Amino acid sequence: MHNYYTATRKPTDFYPEYLSGSSVNNSGRERDSQRSKVYRAEKVLRQNKRSPLISKANALALIDSVISTDFWKQLRGPESVNLRVSYKATRYCWARYGTASIVLAASWGLNRSTILHELTHLVVGSPHPAHGKLFCRIFLHFVCGYMSKDSYRTLLNSFNYYGVSY
Ligand SMILES: [Zn+2]
Repeated sequence: MHNYYTATRKPTDFYPEYLSGSSVNNSGRERDSQRSKVYRAEKVLRQNKRSPLISKANALALIDSVISTDFWKQLRGPESVNLRVSYKATRYCWARYGTASIVLAASWGLNRSTILHELTHLVVGSPHPAHGKLFCRIFLHFVCGYMSKDSYRTLLNSFNYYGVSY
């Protein structure tokens, strides 16, 4: 059962096992078996103008507000996150930990839901699968807090519809 976002919520309220041995790297991860389901399910957030394209300045402001929270610090997320946008015809958006930069390799990803998706990657480490249960819970949490409760409910329903575990 997922809890609504509040500023005082701790990561362990969502996923009690989180703090036991999570570290952000790509070695020793479990198989990322529900990636395509998550991609399909979250598309609903970009429909009906729920998560329209935003300016790069607004995207940076969103990133700053997420990474300045206690929640982010408790997740041991990076202290600074850079944003780069490619306007070439690339298909993918991705996040990279270490140099602490988010790279949105495609301009379609300049919207709140995609930025929140990529930020979530920066706090979900090994051994958790890249798009596993922990990823989905934290992503739901961010959507609730930084989009709307309606978007949160929509994503939750879509996860259920596509059989995504969270
Ligand atoms: Zn992803």
